[in-house]
Amino acid sequence: MIRLDSHTHVFYNNAEELLRQSKEEYGYEKIGVMGLSCYHGRQNNLECLRAKVLAPDYAYVYGTMVYGDNAPATGDDHEKQLRLMLEAGFDGWKILESKPSVYQKLQIPLDGEVFEKAFAFAEENAVRVTWHAGDPAPFWSEETAPEFAVRNHWLCVGEGMPTLRQIYTQVENVLDRHPHLYASLAHLYFTSDDRAHAERMLESYPNLNLDLTPGNEMYDNFMKDRQGWYNFFCKYSSRLIYGTDMVDSVSDPVFGSQSAIVDLVMKTLCEDKTFTVWQITGQGLGLPNDVQENLFHKNYEKLIAQNPKPINKCGLETYVEYVLPKMNQEEQRKTEALLLEIESKL
Ligand SMILES: [Zn+2]
Repeated sequence: MIRLDSHTHVFYNNAEELLRQSKEEYGYEKIGVMGLSCYHGRQNNLECLRAKVLAPDYAYVYGTMVYGDNAPATGDDHEKQLRLMLEAGFDGWKILESKPSVYQKLQIPLDGEVFEKAFAFAEENAVRVTWHAGDPAPFWSEETAPEFAVRNHWLCVGEGMPTLRQIYTQVENVLDRHPHLYASLAHLYFTSDDRAHAERMLESYPNLNLDLTPGNEMYDNFMKDRQGWYNFFCKYSSRLIYGTDMVDSVSDPVFGSQSAIVDLVMKTLCEDKTFTVWQITGQGLGLPNDVQENLFHKNYEKLIAQNPKPINKCGLETYVEYVLPKMNQEEQRKTEALLLEIESKL
């Protein structure tokens, strides 16, 4: 079966390794690389763009907003960054600002005026958006959070931490205002413990998709209510998109290895045998073939352009010139080197 991985990252500036794994180990037809500039260094958008230079017909790259330490973010700034990213050759917009640990630092409401113009622009121009909003509910208490969440500093406890309800309210306010936004809410919008919420979202917003990138808790929950989720996958099979969170390394901060993630997804969705992967034991859902086809390739193929956008040299220079003052010296040095390298390969 053809598979595309819609949700991957570059952590170590090693796009070569990301491409090697996705082509050789997993045989993906194409991939989406999601920038993480508000998490993994403000040069990260360009580190992701390297994947596109190395594989122009293969890698779609979504850029993230860059935040300066001293200048406050504004509505004009966000709209401009989005516009410049698209002109430079990014294929979409990745939002991580409503991940609680990121929200805690930035304190920018997603339904406030900083984001409003960018969302209006994105809706009007059918910009593809991958949006991480929330985290699994158990992360909000030390008693219920899994060990890996604590280790990765994802515990949603502490000053300035939003509640899950606050994040949901902000997201849904944005979607109510921009109901035609082409958003893919990552990790099933963390609704695997509340399927009715997922259904409500898909019924309310016609261009909304949910991505199936683990969250191990999602796959655990799918198997705890096999019939319920089987029906959900069949009913909404045209709105669910495969992704893995694969990074540019064979190891993974939660699962230990990339192959464990893929194994968990495939065994849960495609097979109907009992298995144990990582710390999860259950019986797979054994989804019908046509449902699998939608999840693994057809939906993403429909959503994205037939080919990744080419990098526009002039547009990229303008974008870099605009975001460079927001970076520290180290990030500026890295960004300038990345720009030179990218341009030398165009
Ligand atoms: Zn991700």
